[in-house]
Amino acid sequence: MSNKIDNLLRPSSFEKFFGQEDITSQLKIHIFSAKNRKTVLSHILFYGPPGLGKTSLANILANEMGSKIVTVTAISLEKVPDLVSILGQLEAGDILFIDEIHRLKIELCELLYSAMEDFKIYVSYKNDENTKLLTLNLAPFTLIGATTNIGSISKPLYDRFALIFKFNYYDEQTLWKIIDQNSKFFNLNIDKKLYPLITERSRFTPRYLNNILLKISDYSLYYNVKKFNEKELLHAFEIMKINEGGLTYEDIEIIKIIGENFSNRPVSLEAVASMLNEDANNIKNVNEPFLVMSNIILRTKRGRMLSQKGLKILEKYS
Ligand code: ADP
Repeated sequence: MSNKIDNLLRPSSFEKFFGQEDITSQLKIHIFSAKNRKTVLSHILFYGPPGLGKTSLANILANEMGSKIVTVTAISLEKVPDLVSILGQLEAGDILFIDEIHRLKIELCELLYSAMEDFKIYVSYKNDENTKLLTLNLAPFTLIGATTNIGSISKPLYDRFALIFKFNYYDEQTLWKIIDQNSKFFNLNIDKKLYPLITERSRFTPRYLNNILLKISDYSLYYNVKKFNEKELLHAFEIMKINEGGLTYEDIEIIKIIGENFSNRPVSLEAVASMLNEDANNIKNVNEPFLVMSNIILRTKRGRMLSQKGLKILEKYS
């Protein structure tokens, strides 16, 4: 799910979209061949934690193909007619981008099966006492689905995507390029040697990185900072609650629950989630990948535990 800053900073071309080369290099080939054969792009599924560029890349694909993109979030589609109306309005070559596609209701998924396969949908309607089945032909289109929760996508829907790509966390050098690109927008003047201090707190995720840039840009306006030095930058982090390691309030709560409430004995994600009053899937797909990648939480056979690094963090926050 995106916010206003996301839309303002969304890269519009491959040149402005850094990293994820494994994905972009393949997509460029698919774009080239689709244009060459004058066909639509195959259906594409993007998955991975939030903020890594799935929506951005869907928009870039539309730009590169010269196609219109229609964007919807799965939860905004409640009933079959909602989706029928969107599908019915698509024109040849259009891209339909469904965000958080794992949340699409089953009856809407079923509608997509034939739409994706043969560009047809079958809609039942009541005529007198009888129920009749109506076939609607659709214009050839490309469905791009994005999800943070690949495990919740039904097998028949998953199988209908010809191209499936996993988004990974970004490396430091790539994030530095994003700082370079976006600091002009935020009117920020930061020495390159301070970049590592920022990326260390970015969760290796462009969306978080942009949020940090926004916060320190607000700070610089308020404190009239023309050019950040290290001391000022660290002060901005402190005031704006930009934690070391990029830990969010929720991450810290999770660390405390495992370390304090469960005395760092192996615990299930469901137990942590219920103490947090959160959905276990949300923790599994949003917080946990980052905490595991950062070697703070260990995923053992018997459950989740804190690593030595996790225990040190616990000491700091308890
Ligand atoms: P997702 O759809 O995976 O949640 P978005 O595409 O909405 O992520 O990305 C959030 C923001 O992060 C974008 O608006 C953009 O500013 C920035 N961003 C994401 N990926 C990149 C990238 N590879 N290069 C530059 N900026 C990026």
